[in-house]
Amino acid sequence: MFFHSTRGKDHDKSFASILMQGLAEDGGLFMPDYWPQVDLEEVKSKKSFLEVAKCVVPLFTGSSFSKQETIDILDSAWHDFEHKDLIKITDLNSVSVLELFHGPTAAFKDFGLQLAAAFFNKVLEEENKTAIVLGATSGDTGSAAIDACKNYKRITSFIMLPNGNMSAVQRRQMSTINADNVFALRINGTFDDCQDLVKLAFKTRDFLKPNQYLLAVNSINWTRIIGQICYYFYTYNQLNTKGKLSFSIPTGNFGNVFACYSAHKMGLPVNKICVAVNKNDILHRFFTENDYSKKMVHDTLSPSMDISVASNFERLVYDFFLERSGEQCADMFNHFPNSPIVLSDAVWQKKDSLFSSSKVEDLNTKQIINKIYKSYGYVLDPHTAVAADEAFKKSNTDNHFIILATAHPAKFPKVYEELQIKLSSLPKGLHDLEKKKEYLHTFNANYNDIKDFIKLNN
Ligand SMILES: *Cc1c(COP(=O)(O)O)cnc(C)c1O
Repeated sequence: MFFHSTRGKDHDKSFASILMQGLAEDGGLFMPDYWPQVDLEEVKSKKSFLEVAKCVVPLFTGSSFSKQETIDILDSAWHDFEHKDLIKITDLNSVSVLELFHGPTAAFKDFGLQLAAAFFNKVLEEENKTAIVLGATSGDTGSAAIDACKNYKRITSFIMLPNGNMSAVQRRQMSTINADNVFALRINGTFDDCQDLVKLAFKTRDFLKPNQYLLAVNSINWTRIIGQICYYFYTYNQLNTKGKLSFSIPTGNFGNVFACYSAHKMGLPVNKICVAVNKNDILHRFFTENDYSKKMVHDTLSPSMDISVASNFERLVYDFFLERSGEQCADMFNHFPNSPIVLSDAVWQKKDSLFSSSKVEDLNTKQIINKIYKSYGYVLDPHTAVAADEAFKKSNTDNHFIILATAHPAKFPKVYEELQIKLSSLPKGLHDLEKKKEYLHTFNANYNDIKDFIKLNN
């Protein structure tokens, strides 16, 4: 299996090269050359998440690793989960909640980032090199990246966080790590400022040592998507339903939705994918009005979904709507966001065969949390709540809905104080977080200062 860019210029790339490169040189995102097919009967017969993952991950890694090498990596890739099989599924009437927050940072991003980190380390060991991980985070990516990489001594992580809307728990998950290969950089600016600094750093690369990689951990990295594809097949393995499955997914950068779409292309029987967003509604505007145009970001109760553009959406446009025309995709995305993406009506209509979308604002999010708590005694986190409404409205015996529960509610304690809901459990990774010392390095949004800091600590 080799990979190519959605914008048509980069192709014949191996798994290891796209793992280490992140974004393609032409600005596009990497895609597998074809959709490998998963044997559903085999998936059904497996006894654990890890066994299911072993049916999926090797389909993408063959250009760089033998099947046995991949399986050896998988055996140690996911660690420190609190639930014995990583994921718990809770049924609330006819809806299933796929709890993806039992990893060490209490959000689903542990699945993709722990897998990526394990492969990063394998490549670095083989080539005897080191790497810098550089990323910006508005919520959960940073803590998952830091946690996934901190035990690999060849990797030093620098994560920029804005003085923004993330919860104090989310910030402390990053700032209280006391390790000499981890640095949390607080930037006096917005998330967009942080992303601009990361982009500039990737362009100039003037702080790297010889033989050192600069690694991207944002959700465009294909290996993160692979890690997420695994749990869609695991859902199939666990649920004894005959018909197709529908998923309602709290969405920001579209990585989780694209993983679901990928699983579908690989053979998973999917009926509908509901793209659930908060007030930051670029995707909802696309699915309801054919208008994909960048607008200002609003702060919401679900900060990990506060985005102005959804990076992985380019993959869907390329594969699903443009049927893999790199030329057309480049035409559109080379001019975005200056010109919005608008598809021809006939092409856009295709969405109805697989997708729907919903938009839930903060007031409604709180009402949904309350309602589900009152009905079932079950507490949804604010991100998951955004996706819950649609699922409960549409689920029935012929159309089984699964809500992706992307974070543990304890990451957002203020919301529950206000709603007077007492959280009964605290994940291990969040214990004593307020008591720990914070190691935050504060900077203005000035590239040279940050570059000097990275050089000094590299
Ligand atoms: C990152 C994140 C999302 C959004 O996921 P995407 O793959 O970017 O769409 C939703 N909920 C939580 C809790 C997250 O951390």
